[in-house]
Amino acid sequence: MIKFDHIVVRYGEITLKKRNRKSFITQLKKNVKNALMDYPNVRIEAQHERMYIHLNGAGHEEVIDRLKKVYGISSLSPALKVEKEIPAIQESALFYINHLSRDIATFKIDAKRADKTFPYSTYDLNGLVGGYCLQRKEGLKVDVHNPDLKLRVEVRKDAAYITGEKIAAAGGLPIGSSGSAMLMLSGGIDSPVAGFLTMKRGVEIECVHFYSPPFTSERSKQKVIDLAEKLAEVNGRMVLHIVPFTEIQKLIQKQIPDNYTMTTTRRLMLRVTDEIREQRKALAIVTGESLGQVASQTMESMYTINEVTNTPILRPLLAMDKTEIIEIAERIGTHDISIRPFEDCCTVFTPTNPKTKPRREKVNHYESFTDFDPYIQEAVEKTETIIFSSKDKKKVEATEDLF
Ligand code: ATP
Ligand code: MG
Repeated sequence: MIKFDHIVVRYGEITLKKRNRKSFITQLKKNVKNALMDYPNVRIEAQHERMYIHLNGAGHEEVIDRLKKVYGISSLSPALKVEKEIPAIQESALFYINHLSRDIATFKIDAKRADKTFPYSTYDLNGLVGGYCLQRKEGLKVDVHNPDLKLRVEVRKDAAYITGEKIAAAGGLPIGSSGSAMLMLSGGIDSPVAGFLTMKRGVEIECVHFYSPPFTSERSKQKVIDLAEKLAEVNGRMVLHIVPFTEIQKLIQKQIPDNYTMTTTRRLMLRVTDEIREQRKALAIVTGESLGQVASQTMESMYTINEVTNTPILRPLLAMDKTEIIEIAERIGTHDISIRPFEDCCTVFTPTNPKTKPRREKVNHYESFTDFDPYIQEAVEKTETIIFSSKDKKKVEATEDLF
């Protein structure tokens, strides 16, 4: 029986980045290997222009489903390797058409003869293979100008190769090729989306979450764990740092005037995140902020909150409307987790009238009466770290020795 024996993988934007090409391909190969961990017989052959996945018995549909999610791949094609004999080529071409994942009305054979000793011309091949398929597939027509499927038959030295169907993949850059960043992950809709988008550009991320027991429950912590686990599916691994924030929040309530507590809370979250970032050797911080969405996300707030660090803060959602963000959240499967009810450590302490235009001089003055440093250090020290690995989905290990 004929079976797809390999998959052709086309690189995404890697092609454009000439100088880094080699390291991108190496990184992509590593990520593909990771994504196909459950298929030990699959062999990955990474070439300069393309990658070939030799299935060695693995089902092409399952493998394609996994590969579609790997950033750095622009498109995929199942392919057949057949003997250089007309009957074998004909039969395989028909098999290809019969096993498409969509309906087609028109097609065209696009033969290529790399082996010049092959006794048939490309013209002969087009006619022989096309004619065979036309006779056996009802309703199918030839359209040489704009076919639904262009089936390529390439006769090379070792064999003939049949490809055609191009399946769109995730695009982006291979994760790990653009450095690493810390994602500030709340239980809301926005930050997981920000995480996905950042990973799409090749950045490896780790999550930082602030929680304030007993003001926030185990349930809301679980929600964040579930979100981080969802993010782990992208690259097979995720690290989540859970920071105890209760003491700092209590201190803020005591020391800072009501309408500035939100601003100081954000500034301190950023300082703690920056400490963890430094220890983890990441170079940026990612948030789910979108300009103007809430009081803490006005331009004035960002200016005042951002004062505490000069680490780059990436805000992939800055220019997006909520409806656009929700659409992505639904697509990546985080939306249903995010809308579960929970108490955010910030909403619990949110004042009735937070300043929408907080000023740097004011907040610095209010904060000058308290030494927050020891509290920051303590929060970092008491941070609990969870590692998710898709190798063993259920296994969640906590480690202290990461630091
Ligand atoms: P989200 O939907 O991501 O919660 P939001 O619209 O609710 O965002 P805010 O609550 O103002 O907006 O939070 C802005 C950003 O600050 C979040 O996207 C997230 O990156 C970060 N953040 C907020 N709360 C926490 C938290 N408890 N732990 C870690 N990061 C947080
Ligand atoms: Mg929120």
